[in-house]
Amino acid sequence: MEKFKIPEWAFEFHGHKCPFMPIGYRMGTLAMKKLGVSKSLNHEMHVFSEMGIGHPQGCMQDGIMAATAATFGKGLIEKLYYGKVAAIFWYPEKGGVRIFLKNEFADSLAPHEFFKLRKKGIDPSDIPDDVRQDIIDMVLSASDEDLFEVTPLPDFQYTPVKGAFNKAKCEVCGEYVFERYLRVKDGKKICIPCSEY
Ligand SMILES: [Zn+2]
Ligand SMILES: [Zn+2]
Repeated sequence: MEKFKIPEWAFEFHGHKCPFMPIGYRMGTLAMKKLGVSKSLNHEMHVFSEMGIGHPQGCMQDGIMAATAATFGKGLIEKLYYGKVAAIFWYPEKGGVRIFLKNEFADSLAPHEFFKLRKKGIDPSDIPDDVRQDIIDMVLSASDEDLFEVTPLPDFQYTPVKGAFNKAKCEVCGEYVFERYLRVKDGKKICIPCSEY
């Protein structure tokens, strides 16, 4: 089987070479294939990552963003804090799909030298290139079926927040605030930090 290809810029964006950014890239690519859509040039896809904080698998989310363009900056990805290597992908008129990294595949990566070094506290960028390339190749050579459990969620409902440009000045600090975030205190429209004093 031919190896999956990840563009070099995705590694540059992520900052280091590790196995989880590629896992996320493949997850996002598979989600687009299952939903029959392409990269979100505007604000189409919405991703609900089941990741939490404080585990290295979080790198996966940069891969999802790189593959789908459902980015943090566009407000198209959020975290559910379940601590699972999984994500739900929703696309207008297409419903959703949940993709979970199979336990068996995670188990097959676990004994790798890469994780032995990570557990000793060595950062990914300080791990020798050949070790990193070897574990990335395991991800890129696996089939979608080896990697992921896919659950179609045709009835998954989501209503994106409507984009708005309206802003006003906080009556205390004078800084512009998007209207949704203005609070009213003592009859004044003020920003959240000013409302907390
Ligand atoms: Zn990483
Ligand atoms: Zn203010």
